Amino acid sequence: MPPPLPRILAVTSHLMPTFARVHLAFERGEGVWLVATNGDRYLDFTSGVAVNALGHAHPHLAAALAAQAQKLWHVSNLFDIPEDERAAQRLCEASFADVVFFCNSGAEAMEGAIKTARKYHSANGAPERYRIVTFEGAFHGRTLATLAAGGQKKYLDGFGPVVEGFDQVPFGDLAAVKRALGTQTGAILIEPVMGEGGVRVVEPGFLKALRELCDTHGLLLIFDEVQSGMGRTGWLFAHQRTGVTPDIMALAKALGGGFPVGAVLATHEAAKGMTAGTHGSTFGGNLLAMSAVNATLDIMLEPGFFERVQRTALVFKQKLAELKDRYPSLIAEVRGEGLLVGLRALIPAGDLVDALRAEKMLTVAAGDNVVRLLPPLIVSEAEIAEGVARLDRACAKLKAAHAPKQEVAG
Ligand SMILES: *Cc1c(COP(=O)(O)O)cnc(C)c1O
Repeated sequence: MPPPLPRILAVTSHLMPTFARVHLAFERGEGVWLVATNGDRYLDFTSGVAVNALGHAHPHLAAALAAQAQKLWHVSNLFDIPEDERAAQRLCEASFADVVFFCNSGAEAMEGAIKTARKYHSANGAPERYRIVTFEGAFHGRTLATLAAGGQKKYLDGFGPVVEGFDQVPFGDLAAVKRALGTQTGAILIEPVMGEGGVRVVEPGFLKALRELCDTHGLLLIFDEVQSGMGRTGWLFAHQRTGVTPDIMALAKALGGGFPVGAVLATHEAAKGMTAGTHGSTFGGNLLAMSAVNATLDIMLEPGFFERVQRTALVFKQKLAELKDRYPSLIAEVRGEGLLVGLRALIPAGDLVDALRAEKMLTVAAGDNVVRLLPPLIVSEAEIAEGVARLDRACAKLKAAHAPKQEVAG
C-alpha cells in the first residue's frame, strides 16, 4: 500500500514554494468538469492554463495513451520514431511549416525557435544578426533566454545577467519596431494573441506589417503560439485567421491535450542551420507524447471541429457582452479570440477569480487585470450557459460587496 496523501499540504509541503497555490486538489475529471477530493464538482474554464483542449479524460486520448503505454514508452532520438514522423507530417500538412523539432514544454519550444533563428543567420554567414525584437508584456517562458525575450523585470530579478540579444518595444507600436531594427537584428518574435500579458489580440494589419518588414530586411518572423495555437482561437493556429505566416513557430500547451510536449515548426529555409548535432532533447518526441499529439490531432482535424469551436465562442462572447452590460462597475471589457477570452476587471482580477471559485468555476488571472476564461474546446453551449450563470452569480455578490455604503436615514 502506498502511504496516504498528506492531508495538510500547506504546512507539510516539500515542494519548492515557487507557486502561490490554491489549496484545492482534484482526483478526476470528465470533459469540462473537475471533481475535487471532497467530491465537489467544478466547472473548469482554465483547462490547466490552455492545456486540456479536449477536456479531461477524453476517451480517445485516454485509449491512445493507454495503448501506447502497453507497447513502448521511450527509445530516444538515436533511432527512427515513426510516430514522430507521423505527427510532424500532420502538423506540416496543416500549416506553413516543412519541418518540426519535438521537445517537452513551451519554454523549450521557444528556446528552439530562438536557436533556429540565430543559426539561420549564422549559416548565411551573418552570425552577428542574433538580436530579436520582442514586445513588452509578452511571455515566452521561464528559462534564461525566454525570460530575456519576455523582458519582464519581475521574472528576471535576481537571476543574474540577462541573456543578451533581445530588444523589447511597446505592444502594437510599429514605429518602435522599425526604430529597433539594426544591422544585428535577425528576427521579430510575437504572440499573435498575447496570453499571459492580458489576452491582447494583435491586429491582423500589424502582423502583415511585421511580415513585410521581415521580408524587406531579411528577418525571420517567429510566432509564439504556445498558448494561442492548437485550436484555442477557433483555428488550428491563431495566425491562420490573419493570412500572415511566420517562418518559425513554437507550440506546446494544448499540443498533447494534457501530456507535456512542445514543438518548433519551421520552413526548410528558416531551419537551414539546424543540421545533425546542432540541437537535441533526450525526451523530445517520446512515444507517449507522440501518441498524445496524434490522438489530439485525430480529434481536432476532424471536419467541423473548428467551426464548432467558432460557433461556441460566438455564443460565449454574446453572453459575456450582456454580462458586461449588467455589471459595468465590475467588467470594463470582453476581449480575445475564439475560446481564448479575457474579462478586464474594474476590481482586482484575483477577487473575481476567487468569487468564481466560490461558485465552483475555475478561471485564471492574466496581466492587465484580466480574468482569463479558457474552457476546453469541446465545451457545449449548455456548459457555456452554465459558466455564464456562475459568472453572473459571482458578479452579483461582488457588486453587493463593492456597493457604496448607503446612508442610514434617521
Ligand atoms: C505558457 C507559455 C510559454 C511557456 O510554456 P511552458 O510550457 O510553461 O514552458 C511560452 N509562451 C507562451 C505564449 C505561453 O503561454
